[in-house]
Amino acid sequence: MVAIPGYANEISIGLAPHAPPELRSLLNKAIAGLSSAEINDILFGTLLTNQPFTLRRFISRNPMTAVIMLSLVVAVVIAALLVVIWYRERALRRIREQLYVDALTGQWSIQRFKLEAERALCADPEAARAIVYIDIKTFKYINDVHGYDAGDLVLRAIGGHLAGKAEKGEMTARITADNFVMMLKTTGDEQRTKARAQRLLESLPSLPALRPYHLSFNAGLYFRADGETDIASMIDRANYARGVAKRAAMPNMLAPYDASIRESLRQEKELEGMMRTALKRGEFVPYFQPKVDIFSGRMVGAEALARWSHPDQGFIGPDKFIPLSEKNGFVVEIDFHIYERVCALMKQWLAGPLEPLPISCNFSRLHINDEKFHDRLEDIAASYGVPCKFLELEITETVAMENTDSLVKLMRQLQEKGFRIAIDDFGTGYSSLGLLQKLPADVLKLDHTFVDAFVERSDRVIIEGVVKIAGGLNMNVVCEGVETLEQVEFLKSVNCRFAQGYFYGRPMEAPEFERYWAMTNKREKRPWPKFEKPPAGVIKKL
Ligand code: C2E
Ligand code: CA
Ligand code: CA
Repeated sequence: MVAIPGYANEISIGLAPHAPPELRSLLNKAIAGLSSAEINDILFGTLLTNQPFTLRRFISRNPMTAVIMLSLVVAVVIAALLVVIWYRERALRRIREQLYVDALTGQWSIQRFKLEAERALCADPEAARAIVYIDIKTFKYINDVHGYDAGDLVLRAIGGHLAGKAEKGEMTARITADNFVMMLKTTGDEQRTKARAQRLLESLPSLPALRPYHLSFNAGLYFRADGETDIASMIDRANYARGVAKRAAMPNMLAPYDASIRESLRQEKELEGMMRTALKRGEFVPYFQPKVDIFSGRMVGAEALARWSHPDQGFIGPDKFIPLSEKNGFVVEIDFHIYERVCALMKQWLAGPLEPLPISCNFSRLHINDEKFHDRLEDIAASYGVPCKFLELEITETVAMENTDSLVKLMRQLQEKGFRIAIDDFGTGYSSLGLLQKLPADVLKLDHTFVDAFVERSDRVIIEGVVKIAGGLNMNVVCEGVETLEQVEFLKSVNCRFAQGYFYGRPMEAPEFERYWAMTNKREKRPWPKFEKPPAGVIKKL
């Protein structure tokens, strides 16, 4: 037999008591006759093959060990599950914290505000509540001039102040950049709530963090209708009223959402619904306003301005439909439509007796990141056989401030194709003069506010400076909104050579504009004049 270390077993062969004695002797003999190898085979075969390890057998043989092992396994599984749950909870808590707290102000986030406000409104459908929507008027100025840290401090101070003013059951949050919202409890007395919201607004500029900047605010106020629970639409309405306050151009103006606003919102919705059909029917038409060389009185170009020739409402101005179509993106279609109509007219004009002059079209900010924009413009011009040099694109200063890098890239692509580019409404966006240097523009259009306040000495110095710098950068400067001879004289005195405004001509329909063109430019032909670059010293002195 082979000894198996650590293993001992006795083997017995049982025989029934009544088994014949011969059998016992026979068995004894048989065992005696077996070799050790055969005995090993029998033993291993019996012990290891015929009795395989089974859990059942193990448990029945070692019940205590089995219980301990099972408990251990269960404990490990439970521990693992607990760890997973704990991690998930922690992650969820963090996400919730991030989502529910405005990282900048440390106050409620807008998500939390909406959730809590809706919960409160649903819990008490009768409760009188009002939404105040507050916007800082010239916040961008703080960021641009004093830096983002200063801007952050201002926002934090406002967030903290509003949260401090919120009574039990009221709530506040920062909605976006410099816009805040607050839900006020009201007693049903709208005048009292209005007065409280107005006081709240007026308390903001004198907060210590805000005092150095002399800030002003616009706000809208919306009173909850009975049973109203849709907080998003309540905020929208308060915001709409804020837009009305903004247009009033008064310091710390608060506008309540009233019947007239409701009506204009209804009209907006109606106009919005009609726009697509109107475009198909060709109801959007370009009007043309001349740009004039104030020294010679000759027209040097014109701007195409969109008008909606509505079959029932007559002519609708772009101030009604451009901002609206910017919100829903339809302005992109309107811009291309006007541009195409300008190209079609330009084709006729280039073939006729009129002196060829460039016409500018306005393009919304929504085009700036469109990779195909420049190709599409070129294709349209080419389809009418119009050289790109007769087309100018007006892009507002605020777009240039927000998307400087993408705009510079786009401007270069457009200029390579021969288009001219104008920076529109310059002076409204608090952009620095350094921005001008970055923008490869051909024309700088000074906003009409420059000549509105031309009497002020400080403005005069600024305009003079801008004209010189733009000249130094090889840009033509056109002053917009010129209405009086006095303004023209002022522009002459600061060397601003080009003007556009009612003094020279209102926006006109194509046939009237053609007559104007023929009248003012009938003698010799002159190309659009370029400013002579002033000596370097002149620019350095500024
Ligand atoms: P804008 O580009 O600054 O155009 C100048 C606006 O000033 C025009 O208003 C013009 O009629 C008005 N204006 C011109 N001269 C005078 C003046 O001497 N005094 C006064 N008080 N106003 C003057 P309009 O035509 O109502 O256009 C308003 C704005 O709508 C435009 O401002 C432009 O931003 C936008 N717009 C017009 N057409 C289009 C278009 O086809 N596409 C896009 N995206 N925007 C357009
Ligand atoms: Ca323009
Ligand atoms: Ca303008």
